[in-house]
Amino acid sequence: MKFQLLPSTFDENGCASARQHLSCFVIDDCVAIDAGSLAMATSSTQKKQIRDVVLTHAHLDHIAGLPLFIDDLFAKLEVPIRVFGTKEVIKVIERDIFNWDVYPSFSELKNEHTTVLEYRTFETNREFLVKHLRFKPIAVNHKVPTVGFVISDNNKTFALSGDTSEMDEFWEVLNVEKKLSALLIECAFPDELKELALVSHHLTPNRLKKELEKFTQKDCPIYVINIKPMYFDEVVRQVKALKIKNLEILKVGRVYNL
Ligand SMILES: [Zn+2]
Repeated sequence: MKFQLLPSTFDENGCASARQHLSCFVIDDCVAIDAGSLAMATSSTQKKQIRDVVLTHAHLDHIAGLPLFIDDLFAKLEVPIRVFGTKEVIKVIERDIFNWDVYPSFSELKNEHTTVLEYRTFETNREFLVKHLRFKPIAVNHKVPTVGFVISDNNKTFALSGDTSEMDEFWEVLNVEKKLSALLIECAFPDELKELALVSHHLTPNRLKKELEKFTQKDCPIYVINIKPMYFDEVVRQVKALKIKNLEILKVGRVYNL
């Protein structure tokens, strides 16, 4: 299994920046987790293959590319884009995005082959299949209903926290999983913005350290994601100063083979 965090933001030379605004992971070039930069940064192969998009939550930085992705592919689709989310998340994107005012209600539209958007609702703690992947959704602790996932194919398993602050259930699930090949966990704000992190339900490096003490798979590679772009350098410096074994910052655009 391989995964990649798609780029979303440019540096002053027009190249992909490590300072990410949007969140979109692609697994095996065919399944997306979140859709922040789905339309803007997918390769032509990914555009051809991705028809399944699994959402952690409905915040803009995680869904911004979804309407444009469907729009781009509208005439070509031979099967619908299937959007997986909890009922709370699907309610929000139907009400606030695909509402004819912000963008067309694609679930009501067809091209010459197919309906173009279908929803697949999932419930927390109930596994579901997407292509060759098994997803286990676990509620995490964010400002709005949000899930993290344990994702497996026949060989490997990895976990993704989604946007979150302190969690218990997530760790309880991970700690009884078979060996994980990677854990992706958020750390949005630097320690000096801990109040802002608290009210917006995000982690800081100090609180990330406390969270990782709850994780018993001590050899698992851990990658930090979801760093707010304006605080990237501070967060990276503070995360490195934690000197936690196997902990590094996830590289934007790099393909990670598990
Ligand atoms: Zn969020």
